[in-house]
Amino acid sequence: MTQPAQRPSLRRCPSCGAAVSDTAMSCNTCGGVLAIDTLFMRLRQEGSFFTQRLRSVIVEKNLTLWILALIPLLILPPVLAAILSLRAAREGTETERSTAFWIIGIALCNIILSVLAWRWLSQMSYGVGTLLAPVLPPHGSAVPGAQHI
Ligand SMILES: [Zn+2]
Repeated sequence: MTQPAQRPSLRRCPSCGAAVSDTAMSCNTCGGVLAIDTLFMRLRQEGSFFTQRLRSVIVEKNLTLWILALIPLLILPPVLAAILSLRAAREGTETERSTAFWIIGIALCNIILSVLAWRWLSQMSYGVGTLLAPVLPPHGSAVPGAQHI
């Protein structure tokens, strides 16, 4: 009976290319250390698992709402996101409701910040205009004292 009860999944040694077991810390053929390779493989597996979950969470729903809620300096998109989320929260499940509340909160923050930013910007431009008015040369004046060589 030469039937292997359990065959470990095989991969290649990065230095010599020999087949090594998935859990081996060093290569049987060349003695190369595989610990780092093993670590990277695990990290990659967990990373792909994480990104997969993240993607499923984002793509599933609300991506447009998130984007709308986060668009800076525009007031209409977050307002829209808040209204749509409010509607989703009324007829959604528990998780949908909590997501909707987050979106509404962020959208409201964005609306407030946008209003403040626009006020600040208009004050800024007004302030800069009045500050620079006396400094700026009057219209059509030539620059006096041009350098002579
Ligand atoms: Zn090897």
